[in-house]
Parts: sequence; C-alpha cells; structure tokens
Amino acid sequence: QFRPLLTLGRVISRIDLRGATGDPRDLLPRAEFDVEDALEKVRPICEDVRHRGVAALIEITERFDGVRLESTRVPEAEITAALETLDPKVRAALEETIRRVRIVHRAQRRTDHTVQVAPGGSVTERWVPMDRVGLYVPGGLAVYPSSVVMNVIPAQEAGVQGIAVTSPPQKAFGGKVHPAVLAACALLGVTEVYSVGGAQAVAMFAYGTEECAPVNLVTGPGNIFVAAAKRLLKGRIGIDAEAGPTEILVLADDTAEPVEVAADLISQAEHDPMAASVLVTESVELADAVEAELVGQVERTKHRERVTTALGGKQSAIVLVDDLEQGLAVANAYAAEHLEIQTRDAAAVAARVRNAGAIFVGRFAPVSLGDYAAGSNHVLPTAGCACHSSGLSVQSFLRGIHVVDYSKEALAEVAEHVVNLSAAEDLPGHGDAIRARFDWTVPSS
Ligand code: NAD
Repeated sequence: QFRPLLTLGRVISRIDLRGATGDPRDLLPRAEFDVEDALEKVRPICEDVRHRGVAALIEITERFDGVRLESTRVPEAEITAALETLDPKVRAALEETIRRVRIVHRAQRRTDHTVQVAPGGSVTERWVPMDRVGLYVPGGLAVYPSSVVMNVIPAQEAGVQGIAVTSPPQKAFGGKVHPAVLAACALLGVTEVYSVGGAQAVAMFAYGTEECAPVNLVTGPGNIFVAAAKRLLKGRIGIDAEAGPTEILVLADDTAEPVEVAADLISQAEHDPMAASVLVTESVELADAVEAELVGQVERTKHRERVTTALGGKQSAIVLVDDLEQGLAVANAYAAEHLEIQTRDAAAVAARVRNAGAIFVGRFAPVSLGDYAAGSNHVLPTAGCACHSSGLSVQSFLRGIHVVDYSKEALAEVAEHVVNLSAAEDLPGHGDAIRARFDWTVPSS
C-alpha cells in the first residue's frame, strides 16, 4: 500500500500523494468525531428531559451552560427589544443576507404534479410541508445569527407553519440567548424561541415539554452532543444531518493567490479546534507560499489558539498531487463540506466535481461569502456525507405524498397483474382485495 510522505510539526502538516494510486480516501485523515462515544453521554440527558421536562432542562442548562433559567421560552418582548438595539450595520447586513437567501430558496419551491398512468388512473405527487419544526442555532464557541437565516428561510419557503428556534443561553449576556440571534429571529418574524442548547435542546424538541410542543423535524448544525442527540432521537423526529466539525478543501493550481488561500483556510479553522482546512495542489511553489502566509496570518488572527489547533490537527493538511486530475480525484473522494476551486478555468473544473456540500468557483467566491451572503445555504453535509446528502433546502422541510386515484375501469385494466403478482409473493389476501371489487370469488383459495 502507498504510504504518503507526512510532514508534521509545522503550522500545517503536508501529505505527499504524488505517485499514489488507488482510492485516496484513506490517505486523508479526518477529525476524531466519535458520535457513538457521545451517545452514552447524551442518553441520560435525553431521558431526563423526556421524564421531567422543563425542570430537567433548567438543571442541565445550569450544569453545562452555567446559567440558571427561570423559563426555557424567550419572552416575545425580548426578541423585539433585541432588534431595536441591534447595530444598524449588522441589521443592514442581515437584511441583505435574508433577501439573497430568500431569492435562492424561493426558487426551490416544489409544485405538485399529476401523471396520467392509464385512462382513469393517475398518481399525483403532492408536496406537503411539515407541521412543526425545531431549528437549532449553535452558540458555544461562537454565535450564529447567520444560522438563524439559513434554517428559518427554507422552512418558511416550504410553507411550514410552526417554526421554533432554540439556541444556548450566553453567560456573558446575562444568561440570555445572544441578542444578534434574537434580532435575526425578529427580522424573520419568528416569535417562538427557546434558550436551550446541546443534546437537551434536541430532546426538548423531540419529546416536548410543558413549555414547548414536540416537533416533527430538527435541523441545524451543532457540536458532538447535538449530533449524538440527533442520532439517538432520529425516528421519533426527522433530522437533516448529523453535522460534524466544519471543513474546507481548496483545490488550487499555480494561478491561485497564496494570501487568499491562506485566509480562506484560516476562515474555517476559526470555527472550531476540530475544523479541517485542506489545500490540494500540484504546485509546490503555491504550497510553500501558502504555508509561509499561514505562519504570518495565524500570528495576527483573533482566534489564534483555536486556529492553530485546527490547522495543526491531523484533519488539516497541504496535500501535494501530481496534477489537476489527481487533485479532482482527491476532492471527489474527500467530499468536502466546502470546496473552493482556485484554478485556471475554475468553472470547467467545478463542473467535474461529483461530491461536495457546496462548490465555490474562483477567486471571488470564497467560503466566507457562502457562510453569509451568497444566497446559498451554509448548513451543509460534513465528514464525507456529501457523497450521499445535500445541504439544507426547502426540500428538507417537505414530504412528497403520492395520491393514487383510479376508476373502476382503470383498476380492471391492471387487476389481473396485481392478482398474479400477489400470488407470486404468496400474499393471496392482496389479490382478494382486488377480486372483491369485481364480484370475483373471495377468498380465491
Ligand atoms: P453548540 O451550540 O453546538 O453547543 C453548545 C452546547 O453544548 C451548550 O449549550 C451545552 O449545553 C452543550 N455542552 C457543552 N459541553 C457539554 C458536555 N460536556 N456534555 C454535554 N453537553 C455539553 O455550540 P458549539 O460547541 O460552538 O458547536 C457548534 C458547531 O457547529 C461547531 O462545530 C461549528 O463549526 C458548527 N457550525 C456548523 C455550521 C454549518 O453550517 N455546518 C454553521 C455554524 C456552526
């Protein structure tokens, strides 16, 4: 088996895949994010919320967030007040983000359509929004008013009537939900907000409490405890995905600007010490220049400790490849949450990508743009799940229901086939249900 040359001990490690053949998946390490392990930690939390409701939520929140809540529900006056005191620059930015995200998601709306299968026989696919959804907005290491927008707008555009948002209470803000998160809710017309985070928030939504009615679906990113609770309670509730730590993969050639690539790698590393920042390039010159840039920029960045840990972790690396073809193979195998293409003919290269949460084409579409104001959604599949899942969208909040409508004549036309197939499966009762409608002998045997 090919052993990549791995150079550790720098600001970011280097993996040399030049000359490697076969599936590169195993050669690119990912962060340790053992949801199975966290399951045992969140199980008692979820059970407690199930049995004791609000009393349990108050105790658990005191333990993990250091905040003593009086009630889990945020008063509507507090939501309105947060908007009144919001910095006008932040308000303008949120309003523009909302406008763009709404345009993109409105275009995702589905229309019902009917297929005439035979004369008198039709199947309609009817798209029905869920009745009530719970949207998780993280708030541990950072606060995310942008995640309010990314969760709420697809739900609204899908036509969901009951929208509840939850976010951890912030010790630094008097034990309340961060005012920017509340202000984003106010701008979107959301009035049902809870100050609960972590696994306990998912349990609150799944089981319901005295203060919060249960929901059908929980969406939104969160840490490992949120992901574990989603896995545990999936089935009772629907979930969007188990989002893991954020990831960026930059596929670049010698036309890329080292200062920009380094800034983009740092921009995702500042989310989380477990975030993955990966550069894949055929250019050793670019690799060297980006590494030198990283050293300088990390020194000056605000969340230096978090960024250093993320870049220095085994999940982050500069990966050297032979050529663009191998680079594309690596990118497709890795299936990054965010994939930047910084190459010649970036759009043509992007068109050849099969697996990614979202693709960012060329110099002027950095991931930061997508995190906030491109119009695209930033709740995206991580940990390689982009090879089978999509990001959050209007579709996430809809169910397609088949409505089957056949006349007697249309049923008669196909009756014999149904009877024969049911006999082949040794389920004659199915055939009898058809026979009964045509005065045939029932039961048939
Ligand atoms: P979080 O809101 O997910 O988690 C905070 C909560 O975790 C707290 O309320 C607390 O109750 C609970 N908690 C803390 N320690 C605990 C423990 N030991 N046991 C049980 N519960 C505990 O916030 P976070 O931690 O900052 O994580 C947010 C994650 O979401 C990050 O990984 C970030 O990268 C990711 N994110 C992803 C996207 C995306 O679109 N993919 C967007 C924003 C954030």
